[in-house]
Amino acid sequence: MIAYIEPFFRDNDPDGGLSMSIDIKGTIICGGAAVEIAGKDFGGMNSVKPLAVVRPTGPEDISRAVKAALLSDSLTVAARGNGHSINGQAMSEGGVVIDMRSTEENHFQVGISGDGAPFADVSGGALWEDILKRCVSEYSLAPRSWTDYLGLTVGGTLSNAGVSGQTFRYGPQTENVTELDVVTGKGDAVSCSPTENSDLFFSVLGGLGQFGIITRARILLQPAPDMVRWIRVVYAEFDEFTRDAEWLVSQEGESFDYVEGFVFVNGEDSINGWPTVPLDPEDWFDSDRIPRSAGSVLYCLEVALHYRDSDRKSTVDTRAERLIGRLGFIEGLRFEIDVTYVEFILRVNRSEAAAKAKGTWDEAPHPWLNLFVSKRDISKFDRTVFKELVSDGVGGPMLVYPMLRSRWDNRTSVVLPEEGDIFYIVALLRFVPPHRKPYLVEKSVIQNREIVHWCVSNGIDFKLYLPHYKSQEDWFRHFGNRWSRFVDRKSRFDPRAILSPGQKIFKRTP
Ligand code: FAD
Repeated sequence: MIAYIEPFFRDNDPDGGLSMSIDIKGTIICGGAAVEIAGKDFGGMNSVKPLAVVRPTGPEDISRAVKAALLSDSLTVAARGNGHSINGQAMSEGGVVIDMRSTEENHFQVGISGDGAPFADVSGGALWEDILKRCVSEYSLAPRSWTDYLGLTVGGTLSNAGVSGQTFRYGPQTENVTELDVVTGKGDAVSCSPTENSDLFFSVLGGLGQFGIITRARILLQPAPDMVRWIRVVYAEFDEFTRDAEWLVSQEGESFDYVEGFVFVNGEDSINGWPTVPLDPEDWFDSDRIPRSAGSVLYCLEVALHYRDSDRKSTVDTRAERLIGRLGFIEGLRFEIDVTYVEFILRVNRSEAAAKAKGTWDEAPHPWLNLFVSKRDISKFDRTVFKELVSDGVGGPMLVYPMLRSRWDNRTSVVLPEEGDIFYIVALLRFVPPHRKPYLVEKSVIQNREIVHWCVSNGIDFKLYLPHYKSQEDWFRHFGNRWSRFVDRKSRFDPRAILSPGQKIFKRTP
Protein backbone atom coordinates (compact mmCIF):
# COMPACT_ATOMS: atom_id res chain seq x y z
CA MET A 1 0.00 0.00 0.00
CA ILE A 2 1.30 3.43 -0.85
CA ALA A 3 1.24 5.97 1.97
CA TYR A 4 1.45 9.64 1.02
CA ILE A 5 2.71 11.82 3.83
CA GLU A 6 2.69 15.58 3.44
CA PRO A 7 4.42 17.54 4.82
CA PHE A 8 6.73 14.74 5.87
CA PHE A 9 9.31 16.54 7.93
CA ARG A 10 10.04 20.10 8.81
CA ASP A 11 13.52 21.49 8.68
CA ASN A 12 14.54 22.61 12.15
CA ASP A 13 16.48 25.68 11.12
CA PRO A 14 15.96 28.87 13.15
CA ASP A 15 14.10 30.63 10.34
CA GLY A 16 11.23 28.26 10.57
CA GLY A 17 12.53 26.04 7.82
CA LEU A 18 11.19 24.40 4.83
CA SER A 19 8.45 21.88 4.65
CA MET A 20 8.66 19.16 2.07
CA SER A 21 6.61 16.29 0.89
CA ILE A 22 7.55 12.94 -0.50
CA ASP A 23 5.61 9.86 -1.13
CA ILE A 24 7.10 6.60 -0.03
CA LYS A 25 5.70 3.14 0.30
CA GLY A 26 6.90 2.88 3.87
CA THR A 27 6.02 5.03 6.84
CA ILE A 28 7.29 8.22 8.43
CA ILE A 29 6.97 8.65 12.17
CA CYS A 30 7.38 12.04 13.80
CA GLY A 31 6.98 11.26 17.50
CA GLY A 32 6.43 8.59 20.12
CA ALA A 33 8.40 5.50 21.02
CA ALA A 34 9.98 4.95 17.58
CA VAL A 35 11.55 8.42 17.60
CA GLU A 36 12.67 8.00 21.19
CA ILE A 37 14.37 4.66 20.43
CA ALA A 38 16.09 6.17 17.38
CA GLY A 39 17.61 8.80 19.67
CA LYS A 40 19.36 6.18 21.83
CA ASP A 41 21.82 3.33 21.37
CA PHE A 42 23.39 0.33 23.12
CA GLY A 43 26.11 2.55 24.60
CA GLY A 44 23.38 4.29 26.60
CA MET A 45 25.50 7.40 27.14
CA ASN A 46 24.03 9.69 24.48
CA SER A 47 20.52 10.67 23.66
CA VAL A 48 19.25 13.06 20.99
CA LYS A 49 15.93 13.95 19.45
CA PRO A 50 15.58 13.12 15.78
CA LEU A 51 12.90 14.89 13.79
CA ALA A 52 11.50 11.79 12.14
CA VAL A 53 12.01 8.09 11.68
CA VAL A 54 11.52 6.68 8.19
CA ARG A 55 10.62 3.01 7.88
CA PRO A 56 11.40 2.33 4.24
CA THR A 57 10.20 -0.65 2.26
CA GLY A 58 13.31 -0.58 0.04
CA PRO A 59 15.97 1.49 -1.73
CA GLU A 60 13.44 3.69 -3.57
CA ASP A 61 12.07 4.99 -0.28
CA ILE A 62 15.59 5.58 1.06
CA SER A 63 16.57 7.43 -2.08
CA ARG A 64 13.49 9.64 -1.85
CA ALA A 65 14.14 10.42 1.82
CA VAL A 66 17.76 11.38 1.09
CA LYS A 67 16.76 13.53 -1.89
CA ALA A 68 14.05 15.27 0.15
CA ALA A 69 16.49 15.98 2.99
CA LEU A 70 18.95 17.38 0.43
CA LEU A 71 16.42 20.06 -0.43
CA SER A 72 16.78 21.50 3.05
CA ASP A 73 19.72 23.46 4.40
CA SER A 74 20.48 21.39 7.43
CA LEU A 75 18.68 18.05 7.56
CA THR A 76 20.87 15.01 7.98
CA VAL A 77 20.08 11.33 7.46
CA ALA A 78 21.34 8.44 9.57
CA ALA A 79 20.83 4.82 8.65
CA ARG A 80 20.13 2.93 11.87
CA GLY A 81 20.84 -0.79 11.87
CA ASN A 82 20.18 -2.29 15.27
CA GLY A 83 21.46 0.75 17.17
CA HIS A 84 24.28 -1.26 18.77
CA SER A 85 26.74 1.58 18.50
CA ILE A 86 28.28 2.88 21.70
CA ASN A 87 28.73 6.57 21.06
CA GLY A 88 25.75 7.83 19.09
CA GLN A 89 27.14 6.86 15.68
CA ALA A 90 23.67 5.93 14.31
CA MET A 91 21.93 9.05 15.58
CA SER A 92 20.77 12.18 13.77
CA GLU A 93 19.96 15.09 16.04
CA GLY A 94 17.02 17.00 14.60
CA GLY A 95 17.33 14.93 11.44
CA VAL A 96 15.97 11.82 9.82
CA VAL A 97 16.73 8.29 11.00
CA ILE A 98 16.20 5.50 8.49
CA ASP A 99 15.17 2.39 10.38
CA MET A 100 16.92 -0.25 8.27
CA ARG A 101 15.35 -3.12 10.21
CA SER A 102 12.10 -2.43 8.33
CA THR A 103 13.82 -3.78 5.19
CA GLU A 104 15.26 -6.90 6.80
CA GLU A 105 13.13 -9.34 4.81
CA ASN A 106 14.14 -7.85 1.43
CA HIS A 107 16.35 -9.58 -1.12
CA PHE A 108 17.04 -12.85 0.70
CA GLN A 109 18.24 -15.27 -1.92
CA VAL A 110 20.95 -17.92 -2.02
CA GLY A 111 22.80 -18.61 -5.27
CA ILE A 112 26.02 -19.81 -6.85
CA SER A 113 28.34 -17.33 -8.57
CA GLY A 114 30.12 -17.90 -11.87
CA ASP A 115 33.19 -19.29 -10.12
CA GLY A 116 31.09 -21.80 -8.19
CA ALA A 117 31.10 -19.96 -4.84
CA PRO A 118 27.81 -19.95 -2.94
CA PHE A 119 26.49 -16.58 -1.78
CA ALA A 120 23.47 -15.01 -0.09
CA ASP A 121 21.93 -11.73 -1.16
CA VAL A 122 20.63 -10.04 1.98
CA SER A 123 19.23 -6.69 3.02
CA GLY A 124 21.53 -4.14 4.65
CA GLY A 125 18.97 -4.14 7.47
CA ALA A 126 19.07 -7.92 8.02
CA LEU A 127 20.36 -9.24 11.33
CA TRP A 128 23.29 -11.65 11.08
CA GLU A 129 21.46 -13.97 13.46
CA ASP A 130 18.60 -14.38 10.98
CA ILE A 131 21.03 -14.93 8.11
CA LEU A 132 22.76 -17.69 10.09
CA LYS A 133 19.51 -19.46 10.91
CA ARG A 134 18.15 -19.27 7.37
CA CYS A 135 21.36 -20.23 5.58
CA VAL A 136 22.05 -23.18 7.88
CA SER A 137 18.53 -24.55 8.18
CA GLU A 138 17.49 -24.14 4.54
CA TYR A 139 20.79 -24.63 2.69
CA SER A 140 23.37 -26.09 5.14
CA LEU A 141 25.53 -23.09 4.22
CA ALA A 142 26.92 -20.28 6.38
CA PRO A 143 28.84 -17.02 6.02
CA ARG A 144 32.59 -17.46 6.54
CA SER A 145 33.34 -14.48 8.76
CA TRP A 146 31.33 -13.46 11.80
CA THR A 147 31.05 -11.07 14.71
CA ASP A 148 30.91 -12.59 18.20
CA TYR A 149 27.39 -11.32 18.72
CA LEU A 150 24.83 -11.58 15.93
CA GLY A 151 22.11 -9.09 16.94
CA LEU A 152 23.79 -6.63 14.56
CA THR A 153 22.79 -5.67 11.03
CA VAL A 154 24.74 -6.36 7.86
CA GLY A 155 24.91 -2.62 7.05
CA GLY A 156 26.06 -1.78 10.58
CA THR A 157 28.97 -4.23 10.69
CA LEU A 158 30.02 -3.66 7.06
CA SER A 159 30.26 0.05 7.85
CA ASN A 160 32.91 -0.81 10.45
CA ALA A 161 34.62 -4.13 9.57
CA GLY A 162 32.96 -7.02 11.45
CA VAL A 163 35.53 -9.09 13.33
CA SER A 164 35.63 -12.31 15.31
CA GLY A 165 37.68 -15.48 15.67
CA GLN A 166 37.46 -16.28 11.93
CA THR A 167 39.03 -12.96 10.85
CA PHE A 168 42.58 -14.34 10.89
CA ARG A 169 41.58 -16.74 8.12
CA TYR A 170 38.92 -15.00 6.02
CA GLY A 171 39.48 -11.38 6.92
CA PRO A 172 36.72 -9.25 8.46
CA GLN A 173 33.16 -9.32 7.12
CA THR A 174 34.08 -6.46 4.77
CA GLU A 175 36.35 -8.96 2.92
CA ASN A 176 33.53 -11.43 2.45
CA VAL A 177 31.10 -9.42 0.33
CA THR A 178 31.24 -9.34 -3.43
CA GLU A 179 28.48 -6.88 -4.33
CA LEU A 180 26.56 -4.06 -2.70
CA ASP A 181 23.55 -1.93 -3.54
CA VAL A 182 23.99 1.51 -2.06
CA VAL A 183 22.01 4.75 -1.86
CA THR A 184 24.60 7.54 -1.88
CA GLY A 185 24.43 10.90 -0.13
CA LYS A 186 23.15 12.31 -3.44
CA GLY A 187 20.18 9.96 -3.26
CA ASP A 188 21.40 7.80 -6.18
CA ALA A 189 20.80 4.07 -5.95
CA VAL A 190 23.96 2.38 -7.28
CA SER A 191 25.12 -1.24 -7.54
CA CYS A 192 28.81 -1.77 -6.94
CA SER A 193 31.43 -4.49 -6.65
CA PRO A 194 35.23 -4.78 -6.89
CA THR A 195 34.86 -4.41 -10.66
CA GLU A 196 31.76 -2.20 -11.08
CA ASN A 197 31.72 1.25 -9.44
CA SER A 198 34.58 -0.15 -7.40
CA ASP A 199 35.42 3.17 -5.79
CA LEU A 200 32.00 3.35 -4.16
CA PHE A 201 32.23 -0.33 -3.15
CA PHE A 202 35.54 0.09 -1.32
CA SER A 203 34.53 3.48 0.12
CA VAL A 204 31.40 2.12 1.75
CA LEU A 205 33.13 -0.91 3.33
CA GLY A 206 34.40 0.31 6.68
CA GLY A 207 33.13 3.77 5.66
CA LEU A 208 31.35 4.53 8.96
CA GLY A 209 28.15 5.20 7.01
CA GLN A 210 29.72 8.27 5.38
CA PHE A 211 29.33 7.46 1.71
CA GLY A 212 26.09 5.59 1.25
CA ILE A 213 23.38 3.47 2.80
CA ILE A 214 23.84 -0.23 2.10
CA THR A 215 20.53 -1.70 1.00
CA ARG A 216 21.75 -5.09 -0.27
CA ALA A 217 24.93 -7.10 0.25
CA ARG A 218 26.11 -10.30 -1.44
CA ILE A 219 27.76 -12.39 1.29
CA LEU A 220 30.10 -15.29 0.54
CA LEU A 221 28.99 -18.61 2.02
CA GLN A 222 30.61 -21.97 2.67
CA PRO A 223 29.26 -25.38 3.74
CA ALA A 224 28.22 -25.16 7.39
CA PRO A 225 29.81 -27.70 9.72
CA ASP A 226 27.52 -29.62 12.08
CA MET A 227 29.58 -29.44 15.24
CA VAL A 228 32.32 -27.46 16.92
CA ARG A 229 34.90 -28.51 19.50
CA TRP A 230 35.32 -25.41 21.63
CA ILE A 231 38.48 -25.24 23.76
CA ARG A 232 39.96 -22.76 26.24
CA VAL A 233 43.50 -22.92 27.65
CA VAL A 234 45.07 -20.63 30.23
CA TYR A 235 48.43 -18.84 30.38
CA ALA A 236 50.17 -16.94 33.14
CA GLU A 237 52.62 -15.14 30.85
CA PHE A 238 51.52 -12.73 28.14
CA ASP A 239 54.45 -13.51 25.83
CA GLU A 240 53.62 -17.24 25.92
CA PHE A 241 49.97 -16.49 25.18
CA THR A 242 50.84 -14.21 22.24
CA ARG A 243 53.45 -16.62 20.88
CA ASP A 244 50.89 -19.43 20.67
CA ALA A 245 48.07 -17.22 19.39
CA GLU A 246 50.32 -15.78 16.67
CA TRP A 247 51.52 -19.25 15.72
CA LEU A 248 47.94 -20.45 15.32
CA VAL A 249 46.81 -17.52 13.17
CA SER A 250 49.90 -17.73 10.97
CA GLN A 251 49.58 -21.44 10.09
CA GLU A 252 49.43 -21.99 6.35
CA GLY A 253 48.23 -25.55 6.77
CA GLU A 254 45.83 -26.93 9.31
CA SER A 255 44.83 -24.67 12.18
CA PHE A 256 41.76 -24.10 14.26
CA ASP A 257 38.70 -22.57 12.55
CA TYR A 258 38.41 -19.90 15.19
CA VAL A 259 41.07 -18.21 17.35
CA GLU A 260 40.34 -15.60 20.00
CA GLY A 261 41.67 -14.76 23.44
CA PHE A 262 40.88 -12.79 26.54
CA VAL A 263 42.42 -11.42 29.70
CA PHE A 264 40.85 -12.20 33.08
CA VAL A 265 41.51 -11.35 36.68
CA ASN A 266 43.70 -13.77 38.64
CA GLY A 267 41.15 -14.22 41.42
CA GLU A 268 37.84 -15.82 42.28
CA ASP A 269 35.63 -12.86 41.30
CA SER A 270 32.68 -14.44 39.48
CA ILE A 271 32.37 -11.64 36.88
CA ASN A 272 36.03 -10.92 36.09
CA GLY A 273 38.03 -13.88 37.36
CA TRP A 274 38.59 -17.65 37.23
CA PRO A 275 34.90 -18.67 37.07
CA THR A 276 34.54 -16.95 33.66
CA VAL A 277 36.82 -19.50 32.00
CA PRO A 278 35.29 -23.03 32.21
CA LEU A 279 32.95 -23.81 29.31
CA ASP A 280 30.99 -26.62 30.90
CA PRO A 281 29.07 -25.63 34.05
CA GLU A 282 30.23 -28.95 35.55
CA ASP A 283 33.90 -27.95 35.18
CA TRP A 284 35.76 -25.93 37.77
CA PHE A 285 38.89 -23.82 37.61
CA ASP A 286 41.65 -25.44 39.68
CA SER A 287 43.51 -22.37 40.93
CA ASP A 288 46.23 -24.56 42.51
CA ARG A 289 47.53 -25.00 38.96
CA ILE A 290 48.41 -21.31 38.61
CA PRO A 291 52.17 -20.80 38.98
CA ARG A 292 53.30 -18.66 41.93
CA SER A 293 55.00 -16.28 39.50
CA ALA A 294 51.62 -15.31 37.93
CA GLY A 295 50.60 -11.66 38.13
CA SER A 296 47.32 -9.79 38.61
CA VAL A 297 45.82 -11.06 35.37
CA LEU A 298 45.86 -14.32 33.39
CA TYR A 299 45.26 -14.98 29.69
CA CYS A 300 42.94 -17.41 27.98
CA LEU A 301 43.33 -18.62 24.41
CA GLU A 302 39.99 -19.68 22.96
CA VAL A 303 39.93 -21.89 19.88
CA ALA A 304 37.40 -23.97 17.99
CA LEU A 305 37.50 -26.79 15.47
CA HIS A 306 34.66 -27.49 13.04
CA TYR A 307 33.57 -31.02 12.23
CA ARG A 308 30.73 -33.02 10.73
CA ASP A 309 28.36 -35.43 12.45
CA SER A 310 29.81 -38.15 10.26
CA ASP A 311 33.41 -37.56 11.50
CA ARG A 312 34.67 -40.19 13.94
CA LYS A 313 35.41 -38.94 17.42
CA SER A 314 38.96 -40.27 17.18
CA THR A 315 39.59 -38.24 14.03
CA VAL A 316 38.37 -35.05 15.71
CA ASP A 317 40.47 -35.83 18.80
CA THR A 318 43.57 -36.37 16.66
CA ARG A 319 43.07 -33.11 14.72
CA ALA A 320 42.55 -31.11 17.92
CA GLU A 321 45.47 -32.72 19.79
CA ARG A 322 47.87 -32.14 16.87
CA LEU A 323 47.37 -28.39 17.39
CA ILE A 324 46.78 -28.25 21.15
CA GLY A 325 49.87 -30.39 21.71
CA ARG A 326 52.01 -27.59 20.29
CA LEU A 327 50.74 -25.00 22.79
CA GLY A 328 52.47 -24.04 26.03
CA PHE A 329 49.52 -23.35 28.34
CA ILE A 330 49.35 -24.17 32.07
CA GLU A 331 48.87 -27.89 32.51
CA GLY A 332 45.45 -28.73 33.95
CA LEU A 333 43.90 -25.44 32.89
CA ARG A 334 42.24 -26.68 29.73
CA PHE A 335 38.47 -26.65 29.23
CA GLU A 336 36.41 -27.95 26.34
CA ILE A 337 32.97 -28.87 25.15
CA ASP A 338 31.37 -30.00 21.91
CA VAL A 339 28.41 -27.92 20.72
CA THR A 340 26.45 -27.58 17.50
CA TYR A 341 27.76 -25.04 15.02
CA VAL A 342 24.69 -22.81 15.44
CA GLU A 343 25.01 -22.92 19.24
CA PHE A 344 28.65 -21.92 18.91
CA ILE A 345 28.01 -19.03 16.54
CA LEU A 346 25.18 -17.84 18.82
CA ARG A 347 27.24 -18.37 22.02
CA VAL A 348 26.96 -14.73 23.13
CA ASN A 349 23.16 -15.09 23.34
CA ARG A 350 23.65 -16.86 26.65
CA SER A 351 25.59 -13.90 28.04
CA GLU A 352 22.95 -11.58 26.62
CA ALA A 353 20.19 -13.46 28.47
CA ALA A 354 22.20 -13.41 31.71
CA ALA A 355 22.92 -9.67 31.38
CA LYS A 356 19.25 -8.97 30.61
CA ALA A 357 18.29 -10.82 33.79
CA LYS A 358 20.73 -8.68 35.79
CA GLY A 359 19.60 -5.43 34.14
CA THR A 360 23.01 -4.77 32.59
CA TRP A 361 22.02 -5.23 28.92
CA ASP A 362 19.15 -2.88 28.08
CA GLU A 363 18.99 -0.66 31.14
CA ALA A 364 22.63 0.16 31.87
CA PRO A 365 25.20 2.11 29.81
CA HIS A 366 28.12 0.36 28.09
CA PRO A 367 31.24 2.51 27.99
CA TRP A 368 33.10 0.11 25.70
CA LEU A 369 36.51 0.69 24.17
CA ASN A 370 37.79 -1.18 21.10
CA LEU A 371 41.24 -0.76 19.63
CA PHE A 372 43.56 -2.34 17.12
CA VAL A 373 47.12 -2.42 18.51
CA SER A 374 50.12 -3.50 16.46
CA LYS A 375 52.15 -6.54 17.51
CA ARG A 376 55.09 -4.20 18.02
CA ASP A 377 53.37 -2.51 20.97
CA ILE A 378 51.05 -5.14 22.39
CA SER A 379 53.42 -6.20 25.23
CA LYS A 380 53.81 -2.59 26.29
CA PHE A 381 50.02 -2.27 26.18
CA ASP A 382 49.69 -5.40 28.34
CA ARG A 383 52.11 -4.07 30.95
CA THR A 384 50.34 -0.73 31.35
CA VAL A 385 46.70 -1.37 30.49
CA PHE A 386 45.93 -4.99 31.38
CA LYS A 387 48.36 -5.42 34.27
CA GLU A 388 47.80 -1.98 35.81
CA LEU A 389 44.86 0.10 34.61
CA VAL A 390 42.23 -2.65 34.27
CA SER A 391 43.79 -5.33 36.47
CA ASP A 392 40.56 -5.52 38.53
CA GLY A 393 38.53 -6.23 35.39
CA VAL A 394 35.88 -4.18 33.59
CA GLY A 395 32.75 -6.08 34.62
CA GLY A 396 32.73 -7.92 31.27
CA PRO A 397 35.06 -9.55 28.72
CA MET A 398 38.49 -8.07 27.94
CA LEU A 399 39.27 -9.54 24.53
CA VAL A 400 42.73 -9.63 23.00
CA TYR A 401 43.65 -11.71 19.95
CA PRO A 402 45.74 -11.37 16.80
CA MET A 403 44.74 -10.79 13.19
CA LEU A 404 46.67 -10.58 9.94
CA ARG A 405 46.82 -7.36 7.95
CA SER A 406 47.27 -9.40 4.77
CA ARG A 407 43.63 -10.50 5.09
CA TRP A 408 42.42 -6.86 4.93
CA ASP A 409 42.09 -5.07 1.59
CA ASN A 410 43.64 -1.62 1.93
CA ARG A 411 41.22 -0.20 -0.65
CA THR A 412 38.37 -0.24 1.90
CA SER A 413 37.87 2.71 4.26
CA VAL A 414 38.96 0.73 7.35
CA VAL A 415 42.16 1.98 8.96
CA LEU A 416 44.63 -0.31 10.73
CA PRO A 417 47.82 0.16 12.76
CA GLU A 418 50.71 1.04 10.53
CA GLU A 419 53.42 -1.57 11.22
CA GLY A 420 53.79 -5.27 10.56
CA ASP A 421 51.43 -7.99 9.42
CA ILE A 422 50.13 -8.95 12.87
CA PHE A 423 47.98 -6.65 14.97
CA TYR A 424 45.66 -7.31 17.91
CA ILE A 425 42.10 -6.37 18.60
CA VAL A 426 41.59 -5.24 22.17
CA ALA A 427 38.01 -4.93 23.40
CA LEU A 428 37.15 -3.71 26.89
CA LEU A 429 33.48 -4.67 27.06
CA ARG A 430 32.43 -2.92 30.24
CA PHE A 431 29.18 -3.82 31.96
CA VAL A 432 27.96 -1.53 34.70
CA PRO A 433 25.57 -2.79 37.41
CA PRO A 434 22.51 -0.48 37.40
CA HIS A 435 22.89 0.55 41.07
CA ARG A 436 26.45 1.84 40.43
CA LYS A 437 25.59 3.58 37.18
CA PRO A 438 26.56 7.26 37.41
CA TYR A 439 29.80 6.75 39.32
CA LEU A 440 31.09 3.77 37.33
CA VAL A 441 30.14 5.13 33.93
CA GLU A 442 32.02 8.35 34.49
CA LYS A 443 35.00 6.46 35.87
CA SER A 444 34.98 4.10 32.86
CA VAL A 445 34.73 6.93 30.33
CA ILE A 446 37.62 8.71 32.02
CA GLN A 447 39.65 5.51 32.03
CA ASN A 448 38.94 4.91 28.33
CA ARG A 449 40.15 8.42 27.62
CA GLU A 450 43.26 7.80 29.70
CA ILE A 451 44.04 4.63 27.75
CA VAL A 452 43.70 6.40 24.39
CA HIS A 453 45.73 9.32 25.71
CA TRP A 454 48.41 6.93 26.99
CA CYS A 455 48.55 5.26 23.57
CA VAL A 456 48.95 8.62 21.80
CA SER A 457 51.55 10.03 24.15
CA ASN A 458 53.59 6.82 24.19
CA GLY A 459 53.66 6.51 20.41
CA ILE A 460 51.69 3.26 20.44
CA ASP A 461 50.86 2.09 16.92
CA PHE A 462 47.09 1.80 17.31
CA LYS A 463 43.71 2.72 15.82
CA LEU A 464 40.35 2.87 17.51
CA TYR A 465 37.96 0.24 16.15
CA LEU A 466 34.34 1.54 16.02
CA PRO A 467 36.07 4.91 16.39
CA HIS A 468 34.61 7.79 18.30
CA TYR A 469 36.14 11.23 18.06
CA LYS A 470 34.60 14.66 18.30
CA SER A 471 37.09 16.97 16.62
CA GLN A 472 38.28 16.91 13.04
CA GLU A 473 41.85 17.08 14.37
CA ASP A 474 41.37 13.70 16.06
CA TRP A 475 39.77 12.23 12.95
CA PHE A 476 42.70 13.53 10.91
CA ARG A 477 45.10 11.74 13.28
CA HIS A 478 42.93 8.62 13.22
CA PHE A 479 42.98 8.33 9.42
CA GLY A 480 46.61 9.44 9.12
CA ASN A 481 47.74 9.19 5.52
CA ARG A 482 44.27 7.90 4.55
CA TRP A 483 42.56 11.17 5.53
CA SER A 484 42.77 12.84 2.12
CA ARG A 485 41.32 9.73 0.46
CA PHE A 486 38.47 9.69 2.98
CA VAL A 487 37.74 13.40 2.36
CA ASP A 488 37.89 12.90 -1.39
CA ARG A 489 35.44 9.99 -1.15
CA LYS A 490 33.12 12.14 0.93
CA SER A 491 33.17 14.93 -1.63
CA ARG A 492 32.20 12.51 -4.37
CA PHE A 493 29.54 10.36 -2.70
CA ASP A 494 28.07 12.65 -0.05
CA PRO A 495 29.16 16.20 -0.94
CA ARG A 496 26.65 17.89 1.40
CA ALA A 497 27.69 15.67 4.34
CA ILE A 498 24.16 14.51 4.86
CA LEU A 499 24.87 10.92 5.95
CA SER A 500 25.66 9.46 9.41
CA PRO A 501 26.15 12.77 11.26
CA GLY A 502 26.48 10.85 14.55
CA GLN A 503 30.06 9.95 13.57
CA LYS A 504 30.92 13.65 13.96
CA ILE A 505 33.46 13.63 11.14
CA PHE A 506 31.99 16.18 8.73
CA LYS A 507 29.60 19.11 9.15
CA ARG A 508 26.47 19.26 7.01
CA THR A 509 26.83 21.98 4.38
CA PRO A 510 23.84 23.92 3.02
P1 FAD B 1 24.19 0.80 14.14
O1 FAD B 1 24.72 1.03 15.49
O2 FAD B 1 22.74 0.97 13.94
O3 FAD B 1 24.98 1.73 13.09
C1 FAD B 1 26.38 1.84 13.12
C2 FAD B 1 26.87 2.82 12.05
O4 FAD B 1 26.63 2.26 10.77
C3 FAD B 1 26.15 4.15 12.07
O5 FAD B 1 27.04 5.15 11.65
C4 FAD B 1 25.05 3.97 11.04
O6 FAD B 1 24.61 5.19 10.49
C5 FAD B 1 25.74 3.08 10.02
N1 FAD B 1 24.82 2.19 9.33
C6 FAD B 1 23.90 1.36 9.87
N2 FAD B 1 23.29 0.66 8.91
C7 FAD B 1 23.82 1.08 7.74
C8 FAD B 1 23.60 0.74 6.38
N3 FAD B 1 22.69 -0.15 6.00
N4 FAD B 1 24.35 1.36 5.44
C9 FAD B 1 25.29 2.28 5.79
N5 FAD B 1 25.52 2.64 7.04
C10 FAD B 1 24.80 2.04 8.01
N6 FAD B 1 31.72 -5.68 16.21
C11 FAD B 1 32.56 -6.57 15.69
O7 FAD B 1 33.23 -6.30 14.70
N7 FAD B 1 32.70 -7.81 16.24
C12 FAD B 1 31.97 -8.21 17.30
O8 FAD B 1 32.12 -9.33 17.77
C13 FAD B 1 31.05 -7.29 17.86
N8 FAD B 1 30.27 -7.64 18.89
C14 FAD B 1 29.40 -6.74 19.40
C15 FAD B 1 28.59 -7.13 20.47
C16 FAD B 1 27.69 -6.24 21.00
C17 FAD B 1 26.80 -6.68 22.15
C18 FAD B 1 27.62 -4.92 20.51
C19 FAD B 1 26.69 -3.93 21.13
C20 FAD B 1 28.43 -4.51 19.47
C21 FAD B 1 29.31 -5.42 18.90
N9 FAD B 1 30.13 -5.08 17.82
C22 FAD B 1 30.98 -6.00 17.29
C23 FAD B 1 30.12 -3.72 17.28
C24 FAD B 1 29.16 -3.63 16.09
O9 FAD B 1 29.68 -4.29 14.98
C25 FAD B 1 28.93 -2.19 15.69
O10 FAD B 1 28.53 -1.43 16.78
C26 FAD B 1 27.89 -2.11 14.60
O11 FAD B 1 27.89 -0.83 14.06
C27 FAD B 1 26.53 -2.40 15.17
O12 FAD B 1 25.65 -2.74 14.17
P2 FAD B 1 24.23 -2.08 14.14
O13 FAD B 1 23.50 -2.79 13.08
O14 FAD B 1 23.59 -2.02 15.44
O15 FAD B 1 24.66 -0.63 13.63
